[in-house]
Amino acid sequence: MDSALLGQDPLRFPLPDATERWTARAAWAMATASVLLVLLFAALFGADAAGTPADRLIRAPGAGVIRSLAVTEPLPVFPYHPDPVATGAIVRSDAECSCCGRARGHIYTGPVYAVENLRHRLCPWCIADGSAADRFEAQFTDVVDDVPLDRLIAITQRTPGFSGWQQERWLIHCEDGAAFLGTAGAAELAACPEAWASLRQELASWPASQAEQYLKALTKDGQPTAYLFQCRSCGTHRAYSDAT
Ligand SMILES: [Zn+2]
Ligand SMILES: [Zn+2]
Repeated sequence: MDSALLGQDPLRFPLPDATERWTARAAWAMATASVLLVLLFAALFGADAAGTPADRLIRAPGAGVIRSLAVTEPLPVFPYHPDPVATGAIVRSDAECSCCGRARGHIYTGPVYAVENLRHRLCPWCIADGSAADRFEAQFTDVVDDVPLDRLIAITQRTPGFSGWQQERWLIHCEDGAAFLGTAGAAELAACPEAWASLRQELASWPASQAEQYLKALTKDGQPTAYLFQCRSCGTHRAYSDAT
């Protein structure tokens, strides 16, 4: 651009040419600076706009969160509630967790004993690491028989609870909380004679025929229903039942 301007006989019209030259130089400098600024901003803020590599994975081309993404983050391990997805205590959801503020693909649906209403508002990770319990002074199970304090805390504050027809209670065996396996009906309990026996024992004061009728009526998805546990130490199955 400059050489073209210089080639237009600068000696005959020195002043206008010089002005043109400087105008052209200024325009060129501004254009170049603009391009450099754009490149600089893109370099500085482009990464933020695009998100971290992990975030990029979960963003759809426009915005929003891709549901399948949550698969990339494995669910935490809950020793006292080994398959909370199977029991329905944890479900796939785009809901944001009130504790970590993130939508991580899964949300807890069970009971939350806290001042705030946190139902369907906590993610499994904040339950597992105790942050939800600490932050909201929350428990996820209210009734546990006598166990050492560290186990009691693990069961009530680090483990997803489950929803019963009545007040839920966590069964204990070998001086520790048993693993909750889910609800069970007569059909499922047929494979667990020890659990069946423990249920029958609970009905010891009932007339025998009435107890049998009740046990046969147990259903996994309705009521009355049984809550099946397995001892983490000796493997024994235990259950209790309730209805509305
Ligand atoms: Zn969370
Ligand atoms: Zn046991």
